[in-house]
Amino acid sequence: MSCIFCKIIKGEIPSYKVYEDEYTMVFMDIAKDVDGHMLAIPKKHVINILDCDLETLNHLMATVKKISNYCVDDCEYDGVNILNASGESAGQSVNHFHIHIIPRKDSDNIDGWPEFSGAEQELEEVYEKLKIE
Ligand code: AMP
Ligand code: ZN
Repeated sequence: MSCIFCKIIKGEIPSYKVYEDEYTMVFMDIAKDVDGHMLAIPKKHVINILDCDLETLNHLMATVKKISNYCVDDCEYDGVNILNASGESAGQSVNHFHIHIIPRKDSDNIDGWPEFSGAEQELEEVYEKLKIE
């Protein structure tokens, strides 16, 4: 298996490990794009939320919450951004499910939300397509 995150789990390539339990791991993202950028991953190789079973997702989200609370309760942050790209169309570049955790401070001036260019379709039109009958 040539998955880079599976190799990180197995210790075959180095990482700045923040947290690990039986099912999940959290390590620093090496992008150096924003302070404190972490990735939470399941140890089970699933590609993204679309193929992830609920048990694995539950473990992953429990870890995301644990680290988020830890950031605010113990590391002097005020909040977190939680980001995920599932699928190439969404910008996913590593095909092992990962959730980005970015710790935030009230005064950090980080733009943690994508700069969308404006909706092109009528809201009602998209709603008709998306709503679950
Ligand atoms: P995404 O574009 O949402 O799939 O995010 C993939 C993330 O993985 C990017 O933010 C990369 O910086 C990060 N990344 C890739 N390789 C490594 C690595 N070896 N250690 C830590 N983070 C990595
Ligand atoms: Zn993997």
